[in-house]
Amino acid sequence: MNTRRKFIQCIASLAFAGFSGFIPFKLLSAKDMTALFDAKDTYGSNYEPSYLKLHRTGELKNRGMQLWEMMNRCTLCPRECERQRLRGVKGKCNATDKLQIASFNPHFGEEKELSGTRGSGTIFFSNCSLKCVFCINWEISQGGYGTVRTIDELSEMMLHLQKIGCHNINVVTPTHYIAHIILALDKAAGRGLKLPLVYNSSGWEKIEVLKLLEGVVDIYLPDFKYSNAEMANKYSPGASNYPEVTKAALLEMHRQVGVAKPAKDGLIYRGLMIRHLVMPNNVSGTKEVLEWIANNLPKDTYVNIMSQYQPVYKAVNYPEINRRITRAEYDNAIQWAKEYGMTNIEIQGWRHL
Ligand code: SF4
Repeated sequence: MNTRRKFIQCIASLAFAGFSGFIPFKLLSAKDMTALFDAKDTYGSNYEPSYLKLHRTGELKNRGMQLWEMMNRCTLCPRECERQRLRGVKGKCNATDKLQIASFNPHFGEEKELSGTRGSGTIFFSNCSLKCVFCINWEISQGGYGTVRTIDELSEMMLHLQKIGCHNINVVTPTHYIAHIILALDKAAGRGLKLPLVYNSSGWEKIEVLKLLEGVVDIYLPDFKYSNAEMANKYSPGASNYPEVTKAALLEMHRQVGVAKPAKDGLIYRGLMIRHLVMPNNVSGTKEVLEWIANNLPKDTYVNIMSQYQPVYKAVNYPEINRRITRAEYDNAIQWAKEYGMTNIEIQGWRHL
């Protein structure tokens, strides 16, 4: 068993220990315990996530059911493989109708406006529709790691993350399980969930699905991975339409939630936060990605320009991406963002180089 898999299993077991009620007292300091989640203290008495309104009218459950029906001959993601998931058939993403979850826990390594002091309440879903050859979470996304869970259990996880003080519910790689997630959210909302929902995805999303998430998602956290169709197809096989699909998705996400701006407490509760991973040899087309964002979204759109690319999983088979990026490659990215007039970019350090 390699170190990375051990780490994931350790996190997962801690998380499931937490599910039975032990983890809050192990992970939170005494100071944190006094600051356990209280919506009035944290956000001001007026804050409530957008999905609560839909929950009260019954529309949230309706949306979940509409998404559920899309799994019949599944068209939830742009692969539109039409596998009969509701009959137990696996999609190209490897998911059936059974919900599979790898871990759930407070995460302190997300953007600081999401992690805050008590962590972002991440729930890592197994399997993935995009299948990048360099995926850092490949054991979870493509290796089958995770445990089958019910929708009720997922709603309990959300409530647990709220109870231990997390600032938001952060669903990681949610696309293929979005029906399960919305139905769980509806149940949790009925039992007092009031954290913002973070939709943490590859960016490769269908407009038809995003429309059903309007008024449900508070924070969109998509990647913008490639600007070039050939690169997309090479490193995420079969996803040659990634650039055009993702551009349309980003515009729709922005239309729904607008620009992400921190509140007085430094946390973000609503808006679009884009991630772009700078890759070796300009594989991700960073200049074009940044140029498109600057020309098509407000200049103060939040963009995290990420430097942490590592050559893992199948990257060894592709010499051009079988290394980390250089300082010059990252500096170029920052320079381009500045030249395009972008005013809200997250610049990362170089401790790892
Ligand atoms: S989510 Fe999975 S099953 Fe559905 S269309 Fe995409 S790859 Fe196919």
